[in-house]
Amino acid sequence: EIATLVKKYHGSLSGEHGDGRLRGEFIKQMVGDKNYELLRQIKYTWDPENIFNPNKIVDTPSMNSMLRYEPGQQVPEIKTIFHFPQQTMLQHAEQCNGSGDCRKTQLSGGTMCPSYMATRDEKDTTRARANILREFLTHSHKENRFDHKEIYEVLDLCLACKGCKSECPSNVDMAKLKMEFLQHYYDANGVPLRANMIGNYSKLSALAAIAPNVYNAMINNSFTGGMIRKFAGFAAKRSLPGLHSITLRKWFDEKWPAEKQGATGNKKVYLFCDEFTNYNDTTIGIKAVKLLHRLGYDVQMVEHPESARAYMSKGLLRKAREYAEDNVRIFSSVINENVPLLGVEPSAILSFRDEYPDLVREHLRTSAKSLAKHVYLIDEFLASEADKGHITAAQFTSDKQHIKLHGHCQQKALSSALHSKKMLSLPLNYSVEVIPSGCCGMAGSFGYEKEHYDLSMQIGEMVLFPAVRNAATGTIIAAPGTSCRHQVKDGTGVKALHPVEILYNSLV
Ligand code: SF4
Ligand code: SF4
Repeated sequence: EIATLVKKYHGSLSGEHGDGRLRGEFIKQMVGDKNYELLRQIKYTWDPENIFNPNKIVDTPSMNSMLRYEPGQQVPEIKTIFHFPQQTMLQHAEQCNGSGDCRKTQLSGGTMCPSYMATRDEKDTTRARANILREFLTHSHKENRFDHKEIYEVLDLCLACKGCKSECPSNVDMAKLKMEFLQHYYDANGVPLRANMIGNYSKLSALAAIAPNVYNAMINNSFTGGMIRKFAGFAAKRSLPGLHSITLRKWFDEKWPAEKQGATGNKKVYLFCDEFTNYNDTTIGIKAVKLLHRLGYDVQMVEHPESARAYMSKGLLRKAREYAEDNVRIFSSVINENVPLLGVEPSAILSFRDEYPDLVREHLRTSAKSLAKHVYLIDEFLASEADKGHITAAQFTSDKQHIKLHGHCQQKALSSALHSKKMLSLPLNYSVEVIPSGCCGMAGSFGYEKEHYDLSMQIGEMVLFPAVRNAATGTIIAAPGTSCRHQVKDGTGVKALHPVEILYNSLV
């Protein structure tokens, strides 16, 4: 009846979004028999086999047929570890509206979806992943609806870059869905050795850090290094991250009090001693402490557990939740709007804002949400302090320097690489160019894994590696992410620096 009225008053039944399946049955009435026949002729001239989007626009069934939900259909109740605010996990997967924006190429810019950009296979889109989850979570006859190899295969190449969380028009958060899926899949099929090893990255690093030189010699020796890679299921061509001679925590507790020079500022900040900076990128952590101190901040560090990023990335969510809850408890007592928590590794510090509020149990959710408001990537903090006039160009060199910056995926999805750009632009004559790269392809452990190595390098080759190779002599490559720096080194041989190192080195 509405269609008849619309026709009578010369209106249009559809607006920005077309007719498709929903209003397709009324098109004939709207455009008339003659025009409708022309539409059919166009469709079947170009698509005689009716392959592309069949039964949309022409020959569309009635709007109350072929529905996702039939009357009386039971909606399964699926218990999840993550909290999905105001919806269920299934409803989150159902948010995918099929628009196909996740089928971008690297020429379109943005991050979503790196695996599709590389393979150009529909199976590797965010859409395919959302669809397969929806299908099995709705129709599986198993008690554990996640226990299907097919889901595992379609989700396998998701790098958990979070590109979709910000770029998909429906904000499908596939990284979160994948983490949740993996935990339930492992519940039915056991946790693979490699996932366990990667999840326990901190514990293994702590063990190796007892004798860092021995560990470094072992990973750099072709025989022992090869054995480690083989045992761990890592690619033979991938270099392994080395350990620093001292952990950041040990340096901070034992060396920093003696090394500290000059007065300590009044503004207190806490530094999150994440597991990657603590064991591998200690120099960056040290420079972060020294830079903050020189800029007039009172840097504090407390005892706290790891960020649990490695557990999360492998879907070991119950384990990750223990650490998330401890971190929320510990930092809630010292962090507030005047005392921020800062971190140098985006994947670790951004867990406080992204995953923790939905990962901790209900009794800690309010604390986790309040805490999240005062947690910053150091780049964000320094950029905002510069905006307030608390840090000025006079504190840095006036030498000329060009920098090419690759932002971290999670930083781009949850914050912005522009904070790093602003921070790096503090010295008067520093020019910063943001590389229009998406994901670097490493994505935590993804690029180490032997079956993912080639795809990882292919993703790196799309934009990032050529941009690094083509940089003019003397250009500094900046990358806040530890994985990104590792990937740049393996892909181009160039050592990228954390923005904190660059800014520290430019202090006068
Ligand atoms: S995942 Fe997002 S971008 Fe991809 S088809 Fe679905 S709604 Fe569109
Ligand atoms: S998290 Fe990244 S890789 Fe995974 S579906 Fe989203 S955009 Fe693609």
